[in-house]
Amino acid sequence: MKDLFGVEITEKEYLAGGKPRSLSVYQRRQLGMDYRKAKEGEEQCGECSQHIVMAGAYHKCKLIGVSRSEATDIRVRHTCDRWEEIL
Ligand code: SF4
Repeated sequence: MKDLFGVEITEKEYLAGGKPRSLSVYQRRQLGMDYRKAKEGEEQCGECSQHIVMAGAYHKCKLIGVSRSEATDIRVRHTCDRWEEIL
């Protein structure tokens, strides 16, 4: 099955509004970095050099993007393939 633009998609993706246009730029970055819940013993976002805290409460990743929206919020117990040690 193809979407309006001729891109091959599954029926499930078609019904969900297509792929990848239905994802925000932040969601696409998260997918590209394999942002996920950290397993036990794995490094976490809260210990990564790309992690920042805004207004003392909102955790953001500089690589995913920083905005005032909750769309860019991250979880400190998650991780990704781009984790970097704080120097
Ligand atoms: S582990 Fe990945 S998602 Fe988390 S703060 Fe670091 S770079 Fe961002």
